[in-house]
Amino acid sequence: MTARKPGAPMPAKLRALIHSSVAHPARSIPCPHCHASAGQPCTLRTTSRHLPKPHPQRVSAWAQQTAVCPECQTAPGTPCHDERRPRTTVHPRRYQEAEATAA
Ligand SMILES: [Zn+2]
Ligand SMILES: [Zn+2]
Repeated sequence: MTARKPGAPMPAKLRALIHSSVAHPARSIPCPHCHASAGQPCTLRTTSRHLPKPHPQRVSAWAQQTAVCPECQTAPGTPCHDERRPRTTVHPRRYQEAEATAA
């Protein structure tokens, strides 16, 4: 038994949630790994098949651009570092921070 009200608008938050399961917010920037353009899905270089998820490097670059790292306190646009040594990917907590920012 379902009593659904017709024409009820979908909450924006729910819509964003559904949207993010289809296209990761990291797609808003180009991929440094497979060179997919902004808005385009990542592809496998060998078969040019579209990947359901962006490359980790792309998600890392996106998190770096979007959020301040809660771990090493770097500003958006600055790579994470460990004891002053730059990291190739961001700290795991920065992904969470970026996802919270994008939601
Ligand atoms: Zn890629
Ligand atoms: Zn960090």
